[in-house]
Amino acid sequence: MITANYIQRVNDYCHQQKLKLTPNRAAVLAILHKQNAPLSAYDVLAELQQQQPKTKPPTVYRALEFLIQHHFIQHIESTSRYLVSQQQESFAPHPLLICTDCKSVTQMNLSSELKLELDHFAGQQGFSLHPQSYEFQGLCASCQPRQSA
Ligand SMILES: [Zn+2]
Repeated sequence: MITANYIQRVNDYCHQQKLKLTPNRAAVLAILHKQNAPLSAYDVLAELQQQQPKTKPPTVYRALEFLIQHHFIQHIESTSRYLVSQQQESFAPHPLLICTDCKSVTQMNLSSELKLELDHFAGQQGFSLHPQSYEFQGLCASCQPRQSA
């Protein structure tokens, strides 16, 4: 999806949900969508300053906070980067497969059974899971050493 269409879609969704996609929030989301790769808050700030030289870090952090809260983007805890959520039907957080070598990130769909099981197990410990914290580290297909035949 091209970024302009994507922002339009988010805007429509915000209208339905009575949320406010301010110009700053839309600009930050557009930067992350265009990159299509995880960015740090500093990367986003530097990019935004190219469009609006007077932008200060709190503007970016406030926009990121809103976007995370409503699941338009995800914060990757282990690398402290931000990534646009791939949506199917609704905006929801996806578990992440993170390659420890090339740092690529793949979003996956968690089956509702597995999600229930995780919630159930955590619940037994009296623990409430943050949906954002499903991060799995490993090696992606291209970083795994080739098996010698
Ligand atoms: Zn890799």
